[in-house]
Amino acid sequence: MTRRSEPRVVFSADEMVGRATSHIITSTDLPFPVHRAVLRPFLRLRQEALRAGFDLWPVSAFRDFDHQRRIWNGKWRGERPLLGRAGEPLDAAALSPAARVRAILVWSAVPGASRHHWGTELDVYDRAAVPAGYRPGLTVEEYAADGPFGPLADWLERRMEAFGFYRPYRHDRGGVLPEPWHLSHFPTAREASRRLRLATLARVLQSAEVEGRAALLKGLPVIYRRYVRNVESPPRQRPTAAAGGARRTD
Ligand SMILES: [Zn+2]
Repeated sequence: MTRRSEPRVVFSADEMVGRATSHIITSTDLPFPVHRAVLRPFLRLRQEALRAGFDLWPVSAFRDFDHQRRIWNGKWRGERPLLGRAGEPLDAAALSPAARVRAILVWSAVPGASRHHWGTELDVYDRAAVPAGYRPGLTVEEYAADGPFGPLADWLERRMEAFGFYRPYRHDRGGVLPEPWHLSHFPTAREASRRLRLATLARVLQSAEVEGRAALLKGLPVIYRRYVRNVESPPRQRPTAAAGGARRTD
């Protein structure tokens, strides 16, 4: 096996906003759609986790624009629970359009602006730590030191960077709340982040049936800074455990 670097990933505008799936693959080893450059690094991380006693498994990986739109519209209409920053239930209908937009953004991305559109992001848990059929609630408590996924979260902190993964929502930065379950493959996500523009997002929203569109478009420059761009900086060094090896995994 020869060591060689992966070909440079280039995202199209449609791929960045979840309007295309040309960058996405699934495999029998991982029946969750991810970016083609992310499958192998994630499976390697999973192998390493298994050796340490964790059954690292996704809850969610790639999501397309329509999937995100259904989440968004459901919250806007009050068909899905809408929660405040402290987890308290909110009455969607009682909020002004601008306040409703802000409330949704704490927990859910604007359609077109979810990092899950890139296929580089995975929400994960430890399948070995809970009974079969357990549905992770994706709460901070589950990933706290005394929660079922605390040991996995701790292990990921120490090991994931070598495989190319980091947590873009590690701290409360005043935008999206901390998401300890959300991993990002930074060498690939960086390419999407580099090309994403406010104008691209505005364009896709202008032509989509998204609830609260007028309020969204009006506040978009602020939303873009506070919720889309406001993530932890990715590690500078190249992943050490993910370099080299055969490229094909399918
Ligand atoms: Zn996520």
